[in-house]
Amino acid sequence: MGIGDDTAANSLRLLNNHFRHTPPVTGPQGHSYISSEPRPTPTAPGLPYNADVADHIRACVTEVTADVLAVNPAPTPLPGRVEAVYTWYLDNTRTAAPAQRQRRDTIIYRQTLEHAIAMRDFKVIPPHRCPACRTFGLRWAPARRRALCTNMKCVADDGMSNTWTLARLAYEHIAARENHGRVSAT
Ligand SMILES: [Zn+2]
Repeated sequence: MGIGDDTAANSLRLLNNHFRHTPPVTGPQGHSYISSEPRPTPTAPGLPYNADVADHIRACVTEVTADVLAVNPAPTPLPGRVEAVYTWYLDNTRTAAPAQRQRRDTIIYRQTLEHAIAMRDFKVIPPHRCPACRTFGLRWAPARRRALCTNMKCVADDGMSNTWTLARLAYEHIAARENHGRVSAT
């Protein structure tokens, strides 16, 4: 799968469109993703999805903003379109130290995975190797919100299958890319 701000921006745009165009939605409006207004209340019981997505988008932008401010005390203004946030992120961290840029790339990649999972696009998980057994057999376990290794021999100390957070998969992916100097999920 791809990596970079284009992929992240595209997935966030899809997510944002899904959020804005899927009824029932009571708000927020287009550019209020960083506002402090109360989260929208679902208009029907059992349909919390859009509110969750709104929270997800806000959390992503908040995380990006905090990371920019950690290395750049005077960034350019936050863009008006939510999907432009990753370009803004890159533009404002170009002179950051290598370790910080790797952290940035890990955050962008993890958020890309999060956007996909939020849209129930679970096929983004299998292209990653299991961090423990290094085989391809990871599947998303929605109830646990972790990637589960389906290798029967790959178990944790408690005898249960190994599971991984998206943060761990993103860390492994970006670290491998740094080591190999090329884009790869393998
Ligand atoms: Zn495994």
